[in-house]
Amino acid sequence: MQHLFQSWDSFSSSIRAASHILFLSDYDGTLTPIAGRPEEAFLSSGVKEKLRALAERPAVSTGIISGRRLSDVEALVGIEGIYYAGNHGLEIGGPGFTFVNEAAKATQGEMKSLAEQFCSGLAGIQGIIVEDKGLSLSIHYRLVREREVEAASEILGQITAPGLRARKIKVTSGKKVWEVRPPMSRYEGKAVMTLRKEIRSAFRPRQLVTIYLGDDETDEDAFRVTHRPQSWSIFIGPENASSSAEYSLNSPSEVEVFLSRLLEMEEGVASRG
Ligand SMILES: [Mg+2]
Repeated sequence: MQHLFQSWDSFSSSIRAASHILFLSDYDGTLTPIAGRPEEAFLSSGVKEKLRALAERPAVSTGIISGRRLSDVEALVGIEGIYYAGNHGLEIGGPGFTFVNEAAKATQGEMKSLAEQFCSGLAGIQGIIVEDKGLSLSIHYRLVREREVEAASEILGQITAPGLRARKIKVTSGKKVWEVRPPMSRYEGKAVMTLRKEIRSAFRPRQLVTIYLGDDETDEDAFRVTHRPQSWSIFIGPENASSSAEYSLNSPSEVEVFLSRLLEMEEGVASRG
């Protein structure tokens, strides 16, 4: 993994050679610092303006991929005319485009019942937040006292055991969050490929370059399908040897610097076709 700014020459020549750019980014921990409560993770006005400016370039398509519910990430980012993928890519919406994973729809009843069991089973754990996202669930324990995390994890284990045994669900973990999802795998990667296919058919680009930014375990799947020379996978955070991303940026504030540099470079590319 190399810091992206140390590879700027090869990055910028790849961008200049592209006829169309698909800019994809995770939300939490990538475009915004991680907040104590999920509803407090707001986009700074600087990042928002830069994303909007990028989205307005005719040769750039922009998409935000998040573990949040689609409507939630759409409302938080608040930029019209771009793509949003929610629930880790199980649902995607954008200009003239909608997609919902059929198999995920089928497990919605199971998710609803689990959400109810978590709400009652975890009621005694102070600070726990159960987020029902329709197609999947997030159980946030960032605000839970250290000594109660294990108890919470045990309760989670008991509640999810039958569903795991029957292979109706899977449980993954991220930054101070457990995620209960439908059993299929690799849907962040599939979301990247779905969007790439959509851009290819909408713009018929001679050369499409994809950029993907993410900070967590859940982004690894997208990193695995985003490799050079046509794609740039960028991990946000301190150097991480276990990540499949090929490049890194240190923090969400460095992402903002990256957006400025990308916009400046785009100014210099007079026309694409
Ligand atoms: Mg993230």
